[in-house]
Amino acid sequence: MIICFKRATLLFATLALAACSENHLRQSFASEKAQEEADLLLTNGKFYTVNADQPWAEAVAIKNGNYLYVGAMRNAAEFKGENTKVVDLGGKMAMPGINDAHVHPTRGGIKKLFDCNFPFDSNPDQIAAAVAECVENNPDATWIRGGQWDSGFFDRYKIASPRRFLDAVSGDKAVLLNDDSNHNGWANTKALELAGITAETPDPADGTYVREPGSRVPNGLLLEGAEQLLSDKLPDWSPREYQLGALEAVRIANGFGITGMKDASTDEPTLAAYHALDQKGLLSVHMTTSIRTPYGHRTQPLDYDRIDGLRDKYSSRHVNTAAVKIFMDGVPTASRTAAMLHPYAHAEEHSHGNPVDGMLHLQPNLLTEDLIELDKRGYTVKIHTAGDRSVRVALDAIAAARLANGDSGQRHELAHAGYIDPVDLPRFAELQAVADLSPYLWHPSPIIASIIDAVGSPRGEHYWPIKSLLQAQAPILAGSDWPAAVETIDPWLGIEAMVTRADPEGKHTGTLWEAQSISLEDAVEIYTTRGAAALGRGNITGSIEVGKSADLIVLNHNLFAIEPQAISQTEVQMTLFEGTVVYRKDDFKRGR
Ligand SMILES: [Zn+2]
Repeated sequence: MIICFKRATLLFATLALAACSENHLRQSFASEKAQEEADLLLTNGKFYTVNADQPWAEAVAIKNGNYLYVGAMRNAAEFKGENTKVVDLGGKMAMPGINDAHVHPTRGGIKKLFDCNFPFDSNPDQIAAAVAECVENNPDATWIRGGQWDSGFFDRYKIASPRRFLDAVSGDKAVLLNDDSNHNGWANTKALELAGITAETPDPADGTYVREPGSRVPNGLLLEGAEQLLSDKLPDWSPREYQLGALEAVRIANGFGITGMKDASTDEPTLAAYHALDQKGLLSVHMTTSIRTPYGHRTQPLDYDRIDGLRDKYSSRHVNTAAVKIFMDGVPTASRTAAMLHPYAHAEEHSHGNPVDGMLHLQPNLLTEDLIELDKRGYTVKIHTAGDRSVRVALDAIAAARLANGDSGQRHELAHAGYIDPVDLPRFAELQAVADLSPYLWHPSPIIASIIDAVGSPRGEHYWPIKSLLQAQAPILAGSDWPAAVETIDPWLGIEAMVTRADPEGKHTGTLWEAQSISLEDAVEIYTTRGAAALGRGNITGSIEVGKSADLIVLNHNLFAIEPQAISQTEVQMTLFEGTVVYRKDDFKRGR
């Protein structure tokens, strides 16, 4: 504070000035210009600021939604006026709100509210019982959709005809159940009928109708583009249902301490829902959307003017619409659809006639053409690149955009970049390309077993080289990917898995490539400041600093004083968004 200046004698003034960090000066300026009266004063806390200039503080003052003061207790009283509300945190740890920079909030909220849900580790009997119950509870529905069965399900349980298995419990309903990657589907006979899928229907270029042995009759399993073709036939939700889903997601997110989200693939009804909620003052997160482009094989460039139209129509105070999603491949699970540099293990017997090293959805030159234009128009592009070949192709496209447009400042993202050829590691920093990582999956589990089996050992285990990326100075973001691949948006599971590379819930033993574990400090930074940067909101949120938005959470324990295995037990006691309490523990049952 000012003290560090006042105490200095003339002789030491210069030295003292140098010792006073920029931050101290900023605060002394803040305290001088106003015995400004704060709206809210939080005192007696352990504030982990994620600001290197001032890592810890004891008190914060908030006015008009922003931090007015961050620092020691003794100076906080200066900001207390007649109308200032004071909350004593009783020594609890507080930190910036979490930014989940890869999530599908509205899909998650709609799923939670309206889908037929069952746990990932359900066995066939449990799934049959869940579907039967949903059929009974929804007598007027034509379709029952839900999930999710895990990636190893059909290897573990030998089900002769997946389609007929569902027929036995689905009555007159059409049923579509997704897997834990959300890229594959399991349909009953009625669903295939309604979608017009028969023995004569050819496979799409980017997917497969798995057929019954010795015939062309679809058996109900739909891989990648085939699943997409069926799910496109389902009736859409109403605008009201989209808003309810988005609102439910925001409510759940605030309860886990999330105050910023990047929707990783946003269709127009979802854009409209966020926009409408923001107009009503109900969007208590910083939302950045990634305008969705067609999934699967495509031969023509995107309609850039249409994308501009969506961006301009739905942008609002808390909705940043200047990002786009492009899909380059599938997933490296049993469906073997991520584009790899080398063939999958046992590729011939599993490839269903497709290439043995997976598939690129777009020719590299088409991705390059799209990326150069979107980069020029001011978009951050999130590119789905689950295999090391699609990672390389995307990095090449970003390099071409840098060459064509210079440094646009857009930090394009490679989503689910878990497999990266070592040669490509330094390119992330060179190109300011962001590795978009999914740490909830970084431990032994059915989906990881399925991936290692498909990719082959030891290559399969070398998954998610985050330590190497950090050492190579790569920009990084992390996200839950909820509700794809994970059952909860709870960020504390992801943070723990980054540190331990073991299953936070203890259901599966062992670790996944433990040499790549990182420190808690790095993990927190990835979920706060680095996440804010990925949202395009790095200047307003992500750290506790004077002038920034007061997006803050209070925790039940000090993360730095507990065993790493207890990080997933973290409970958020209070969440502030722009200085307003949007969640308090008492009135929220922590739902999974
Ligand atoms: Zn995703």
